[in-house]
Amino acid sequence: NFREQDAAYFHAYSHLGVHEEMIKDRARTDAYRDAICFHADAIRDKVVVDVGCGTGILSIFCAFAGARKVYAVEASSISVQAKEVVKANSLSDIITVVHGRVEEVEIEEEEGVDVIVSEWMGYALLYESMFSSVINARDRWLKPGGLMLPSYATLYMAPITNSLKYAQSIDFWRNVYGIDMSAMLPLAKQISFEEPCIETIMAENVLSWPVVIKHIDCNKVTMRELDAVYSEFCVSSMMKASLHGFALWFDVSFGPRRPAAMAAPTTNNPTKETAAADMQSDSSSMDSSTTLSGGGGDEARGFKVSIRQKEKNPRDECIILSTAPEDPPTHWAQTILYVYDPIEVEQDQLISGSIALSKSRENPRFLNIHLEYTSGNRHCVKESVMQ
Ligand code: SAH
Repeated sequence: NFREQDAAYFHAYSHLGVHEEMIKDRARTDAYRDAICFHADAIRDKVVVDVGCGTGILSIFCAFAGARKVYAVEASSISVQAKEVVKANSLSDIITVVHGRVEEVEIEEEEGVDVIVSEWMGYALLYESMFSSVINARDRWLKPGGLMLPSYATLYMAPITNSLKYAQSIDFWRNVYGIDMSAMLPLAKQISFEEPCIETIMAENVLSWPVVIKHIDCNKVTMRELDAVYSEFCVSSMMKASLHGFALWFDVSFGPRRPAAMAAPTTNNPTKETAAADMQSDSSSMDSSTTLSGGGGDEARGFKVSIRQKEKNPRDECIILSTAPEDPPTHWAQTILYVYDPIEVEQDQLISGSIALSKSRENPRFLNIHLEYTSGNRHCVKESVMQ
């Protein structure tokens, strides 16, 4: 029963710990804040919908960026606290917290909305399939040419080696206090590798350039397109190593529509200071202790963005939130599909195959993963479910 499954899903989001983990994920939260700031010209005096507002944090960033109206939609009971947070920050005139599933709520905007912001990404991008809800909101409310934040999402995959993991969870059983416990090997492989693992790996674990499994244009993608994603791959190993599995990760970007102030410079080599001034009229310096000032008043509604932050985002780039192994870790880590038996690959050896990710029939929030891979004379198939 999908209703009950959804109730369990939203119940999980009523726990503060989940929101704490997301908010403390600086790569995530800073990327959204920077993106909202970056697009301030498209948000100022406009109407925004925040799909799944949680604690209300993104809605408040949008209010600080000058939104005229923000509908903060949240189906879990954390909406109660979100409403209080909005009130405590004197933003109740701008932000309306709407409790309910976005698919089922109404908003009073005849003309539609200008911006949709949402933090919908799950493990391996598609787990939880919350993006369907964002598509629903987009198709009902977003004005033509409206801004989606994020605007693009890309799912990647690459083969990996991870001897440490293999030694700790599998080879460990070969000699336990001098006792041969190899009889445990099949069980150990099953419990360690049957389901996808959420783990942070390093760039050194990655054996090849990543393959793009799916690229999503958030303004255009349809729900059907995300029901099942399929991609073939053929990569060559950068080194001699044991192939232990495949890692999935994603990035999202917030663009490309740039506000006028961010348009291509007319002068050559603008200084950091002018770039900073373009970005925000209030460019007072900020460190981790002074982010956005709260407590109401005009001051609170202006972003304070440090020059340091702007250096990360030169004016001709858009803001990217990456969960790649070579980037700082996030709470998404990487999703690893371990293979039951490693394959020894030589440098430049080809690794080919296909991967299909599809919504589970029994629970559309679960993800079925069908992986086939071939290298040398080995061909293997692995089925798994993320639940
Ligand atoms: N925007 C917040 C929370 C992101 S987590 C932040 O960035 O910190 C995603 C949130 O979306 C969860 O709180 C979840 O309950 C909510 N959500 C997911 N699907 C939803 C739907 N269909 N309608 C309303 N809220 C939804």
